[in-house]
Amino acid sequence: MSKYEINELYGSDSEDRHLKTLLTDLGERTLYDAASQCNRCGYCETVCPTYMLTGRETISARGRNQFVRLLLEGKAKNTGNAAEALNTCLLCGACTSACYAKVPTADIALEGRRSITGYGNSFFSKLAVETLLNAPHIFSIWLKFVYILKYLGLARLAGWLGLYDFLGIPALADAQKAVGKIPLRFASEILKKDPALSARGKTGAAWAYFAPCGPNYIFPEVALATARVLTKHLGEGVFIENSCCGLLANNYGRLEDAREFAKKNILRYEELKASLGDFAVIGDCSSCVAFMKTYEQLFTGDEAWRPRAAAFAKAVKDILEIIPPEKVTSSEKAQSAGIITYHDSCRACHGQGIRYEPRSVLKKLAGQQWRELPESDWCCGGAGAYAFTQSAMSNAILKRKLKNIASTQAKTVVVGATSCLIQINGGLKAAYPTATAIHYSVFLDKFGERIG
Ligand code: SF4
Ligand code: SF4
Repeated sequence: MSKYEINELYGSDSEDRHLKTLLTDLGERTLYDAASQCNRCGYCETVCPTYMLTGRETISARGRNQFVRLLLEGKAKNTGNAAEALNTCLLCGACTSACYAKVPTADIALEGRRSITGYGNSFFSKLAVETLLNAPHIFSIWLKFVYILKYLGLARLAGWLGLYDFLGIPALADAQKAVGKIPLRFASEILKKDPALSARGKTGAAWAYFAPCGPNYIFPEVALATARVLTKHLGEGVFIENSCCGLLANNYGRLEDAREFAKKNILRYEELKASLGDFAVIGDCSSCVAFMKTYEQLFTGDEAWRPRAAAFAKAVKDILEIIPPEKVTSSEKAQSAGIITYHDSCRACHGQGIRYEPRSVLKKLAGQQWRELPESDWCCGGAGAYAFTQSAMSNAILKRKLKNIASTQAKTVVVGATSCLIQINGGLKAAYPTATAIHYSVFLDKFGERIG
C-alpha cells in the first residue's frame, strides 16, 4: 500500500485545488473528457520510460489515464495503486508526442495527484512556497544559510535543523549533494544591479530575461551567460525581475499558489509592456518556460485573468528556440569541447516541440565534433524533484541515458533544463567522468559568435 491515499477528485471542498478544464489539442475539455480521449490503443507504450523499464501496465500512460477515469467514476478498487501510478509519472510528455489524439497524460496525472492526501501539503511545503511567493528575500537568506552550512561541511546539520523541509522538499537534502558548488550571490541580485539590463530610461527592448529558480538560485552562471548571449545576438534587453514561475507549486499540489506566482509575473510583464512595447520573455530552463507557455490553463473559468495569461504566454520563449542558426558561427575555441552531443529536455521537445533550433545552432558550432545522441528525447530521470522522490526509478532511467551518452564518446553534453543538468552531471561524475553536461547558454556564450 502506498503511503499516500487518494482523497477525492473534484471534491466540493477542494475545487480550488484543481484546474477547471484542460486545454488539449482537441479543444477545451473537462478532466473526465480529456482522460476519456485515451482509446487505450497502446501506441505510446514504447516511449513511456516507466512502462518500458517495468513492463507494468499500471504505470504506463494508458494505465494512468484509466486510473484517473476510474477515480472520477468512483470505481477505483485500489487507491494505493492509483497513487503509485500518479506519483511515478515523470510528466515528461513523451506519451503525448506519440499519441494521435494528443491525450495530455501529464496534465491528467497531475490533476490526479492534486487529490492525493498529503502530497505537497505539509506544513513546511506550504511555508516554503508562501515564503518564496510573498517574501523571496527571506527565502534567499534561508537558502544561503543552507549553502553556508554545506560549505562548512555541516550539510547534515541543515538536515537536522529541518532547513531542507523548510525549503519545501525534504529531498533537497539529497539535491544538495548532487550540486557541487554553492552560489552565495544569486543571479537576480546581480542582474538587477546591471544598468545595461535596467528598464529605466528605455523606450523599447527586444527581450526581457526571466530567471527561473534553477539558474537563479543554483546555477547563476547559466543566467548570466543567457543575459550575455541575448545581448550579443538580439540586441538591447532588460531583466524582468520576475517571481518564481509557479511550476513547483503547480507540480506539488499547490495550485492556488501557482496562480499567485503567475499573476505576479503577468503583472510585471504588463507593467514593462506599458513602457517598452512588445518584447519576448525569454527563460533558460525548459521546464519553467514550458509551464509559462501554458499559463492560460491555470485560469480557465476566470474570465478576467485568462486573456491576460494567454497574452503573457504568447510572449514567452525558450532560449533554445530564439537564437537564429544562420546568425551564429563558431569560435575556434569550440575544438576544446571535444565530441559534442545534445540531450533534448522533455519540456523542450515534448512540452514545446523544440528540437530543430538548438540542434541547428549546435551542429554549426560543433562541425565535425557533432554526434547525435541515441534516444536523445528519452527522459534522463531528473524531472524536477523526481530524482529524489522516486530515486530507484530515476536511477534506472538515468542509466539508460548514460549508456547512450557513452556510445557517442562525447566530452560535452548540452542540455536546456536545470534538472537535466543536475541529473546528468551527477550520473556522469560517477560513471563516465570524462564527459560533462553544460547548459546551452553557457555553451553558446563560450563558443558562439554572432554573424553580422
Ligand atoms: S495516451 Fe494516446 S497513444 Fe497512449 S494509449 Fe491513450 S490514446 Fe493510445
Ligand atoms: S508523461 Fe512520461 S512517464 Fe508519464 S505516462 Fe507519459 S510517457 Fe509515461
